[in-house]
Amino acid sequence: MAVPLLQTLRIGYYVMRQHFSGTKRYPLVLMMEPLFRCNLACNGCGKIDYPDAILNSRISVAEALASIDECPAPVVVMAGGEPLLHREMDQIVKGALARKKFVYLCTNALLLEKKLDLFEPSPYFTWTVHLDGDRNDHDRAVSQEGTFDQAVSAIKAAKARGFNVNINCTLFNNADPDRMAKFFDYAHSIGVGGITISPGYAYERAPNSEHFLNRRHTKDLFRKLFALGKGKSWVFTQSSLFLDFLAGNQAYQCTPWGNPTRNVFGWQRPCYLLGEGYAKTYKELMDDTDWDAYGVGKYEKCADCMVHCGFEATAVTDTLSNPLKAARVALFGPRTDGPMVPDLALDKQRPAIDNYEQLLAENLEKLSAEGRTNNLQRVSQG
Ligand code: SF4
Ligand code: SF4
Repeated sequence: MAVPLLQTLRIGYYVMRQHFSGTKRYPLVLMMEPLFRCNLACNGCGKIDYPDAILNSRISVAEALASIDECPAPVVVMAGGEPLLHREMDQIVKGALARKKFVYLCTNALLLEKKLDLFEPSPYFTWTVHLDGDRNDHDRAVSQEGTFDQAVSAIKAAKARGFNVNINCTLFNNADPDRMAKFFDYAHSIGVGGITISPGYAYERAPNSEHFLNRRHTKDLFRKLFALGKGKSWVFTQSSLFLDFLAGNQAYQCTPWGNPTRNVFGWQRPCYLLGEGYAKTYKELMDDTDWDAYGVGKYEKCADCMVHCGFEATAVTDTLSNPLKAARVALFGPRTDGPMVPDLALDKQRPAIDNYEQLLAENLEKLSAEGRTNNLQRVSQG
């Protein structure tokens, strides 16, 4: 089963409460980036292109837990950078679990075996290991040989200790559906409980921008992959309608507030993928962001985005409104042939604004004023 029953019921109850109380915007998943530093430098990464002063900044345990208290999302995803480079990651996780949040810790697994003792298995806690394919594909995607074997060894060690372990798999336009299908079979054979799949977001500053998928290519790729999965028992962690969207059978607008993002700069506007400004508090993010300025067909930087952290919340809302449609896709899988639904029009989107340098300067000034950029000796490297 993709998501444990306890989690399905808790999240279902939370979503129904929000829906029927008429709350217009509510979060599902808090994306916590406690640091941007990573011990890899993947080609498709748009998170690590910062000067050392920023890469060396951390969200403290107190700040992380205060943010978790501010944001009512039932799920907290620890992302980054590499969260296990944060020396107090275990305390942040313990604090989140004490608040009965479902915690997913995303890691490239290079430090996982070394840090396993600091964590305890719980139905509320899941390791999400970054694995972008088989040995060849993954090592190439993360630009470092040996990482696939290290990740697999860590997955087996975590499973042996009783942890829940999922994988997070990002597909680029050089993905081969046949190889990916074999990789999904393999992942389940080593005890992986669920797979989160997504096309890569076209980060402007990622080194391999030529390999990001456009919308049509994304849908074709996922159709081929899902066709190969018919009759198999692959477990995806996403809703059936999000998978249907990837296969070109739903035309969704994103729900950027569904996954609010907290990082060392504050609460990121408008979403996990795009940093166009920062709010000081969760409330300020929700109340003062010009949400209508973002999304497919509204802003050029959103044109090719089909990433789960933008569209899963849309699929969940659609599931509430159309439970039979969702149940049909869950039972039979996404349709992998026939015409695709017409996508959102892009002809009226506003042009992309290049605000990287300006935001960088503002954020450096802010971190410096907070005294975070001149104390590098305290910084943990794992
Ligand atoms: S492991 Fe994740 S955070 Fe680190 S470089 Fe790769 S994509 Fe970026
Ligand atoms: S489409 Fe939505 S989720 Fe994707 S980058 Fe734009 S605002 Fe963010």
